[in-house]
Amino acid sequence: NDSLKTVDPEVAAAVDAELHRQQSTLEMIASENFAPVSVLEAQGSVLTNKYAEGYPGRRYYGGCEHVDVVEDLARERIKALFGAEAANVQPHSGASANAAAMFAVLKPGDTILGLDLAHGGHLTHGMKINFSGKLYNVAAYHVDEESGEVDMEEVERLAKEHRPQLIIAGWSAYPRQLDFAAFRRIADETGALLMVDMAHFAGLVAAGLHPNPVPYADIVTTTTHKTLGGPRGGVILSKQELAKKINSAVFPGQQGGPLEHVIAAKAVSFKIAAGEEFKERQRRTLEGAKILAERLLQPDAVEAGVSVLSGGTDVHLVLVDLRKSDLDGQQAEDRLHEIGITVNRNAVPNDPRPPMVTSGLRIGAPALATRGFTADDFREVADVIAEALKPSYDEDKQKALAARVSALAEKHPLYPSL
Ligand code: PLP
Repeated sequence: NDSLKTVDPEVAAAVDAELHRQQSTLEMIASENFAPVSVLEAQGSVLTNKYAEGYPGRRYYGGCEHVDVVEDLARERIKALFGAEAANVQPHSGASANAAAMFAVLKPGDTILGLDLAHGGHLTHGMKINFSGKLYNVAAYHVDEESGEVDMEEVERLAKEHRPQLIIAGWSAYPRQLDFAAFRRIADETGALLMVDMAHFAGLVAAGLHPNPVPYADIVTTTTHKTLGGPRGGVILSKQELAKKINSAVFPGQQGGPLEHVIAAKAVSFKIAAGEEFKERQRRTLEGAKILAERLLQPDAVEAGVSVLSGGTDVHLVLVDLRKSDLDGQQAEDRLHEIGITVNRNAVPNDPRPPMVTSGLRIGAPALATRGFTADDFREVADVIAEALKPSYDEDKQKALAARVSALAEKHPLYPSL
């Protein structure tokens, strides 16, 4: 018997405990989701054994006939899903997809223009100690203080001033849709390429519930594990004319052997994302986020110092603003953790509290929608969160709220076959 339990009971126990944690709590980290069993199966398959440097039909190793089938399926499916001319499905993660995409079109010292990390951008969009901040000259745009939306006038002004080789549109913590047409116009007027990082909202795009950046951008990168609901990984989509450069930037530029087991799991998730059930799930995701935003804007929440950045949401997440609350981001995150809801604290623009503490929370609906949450369930969890953030929270309230969370978790069993 060479099962995991027998060979390595310590790792097996941690995996079991993690399964139990996922089943018994409510996952509301905006970048997380639950991959279906079919995706887990593909990812846990013998494809992990195979070296396949190169691309389908042009490998540096023998015996690639079956992984070629898998990688071709993944490429064709994601091209069809987003209407892209070319796809590279080999990046190991979203960060490596962005690194390879930039490596393909930039030289060290070139200028990039991206959304400031503190205003919702990602590390790879130009943070100082990330590769993007070290290799490239960085200019950063921001959200408007009043509206909470990206300030397109600033984007235009900075693009004209800094003449970036690449403009990056995309975010990790932003509750609205970006104006891709405006980004395209600014890129054209200033001679920049446009890259959209749709890691967070790719699932919404696939479902037709969010504008598709592919027609506007020279390059679109994504992760496959957030709203898209697949295995952890990255993808680069592009116009055909950039495909060769991007392929060579991924391999041999950045990576060695592709993870064909993960690529198989990506292929499965792209098939699922093209279906009706997936669309319905993304609709519930958007509905859930809206319900949450509305609840946290009710007078009792406002009285507790709670607010919602930009006054609502058009996507799968809500950014809670705690600048007027006695509770900081860390305390709010801990409180929700105590009752069985997992979220992450998040800096709000111009946050008065330090980065490890913050004055905000990022709360997402994708994982609960995958679990089958309906509008009523989202209303219940939104109410639980609003109650937990009030100054009246005490040990009795904690017990009562934790019981409501458990009831929701039991109502929607997760991975019953595992
Ligand atoms: N791009 C964006 C917009 C993200 O939010 C993230 C992850 O949080 C990434 C890229 C990086 O993805 P990964 O964590 O797979 O490297």
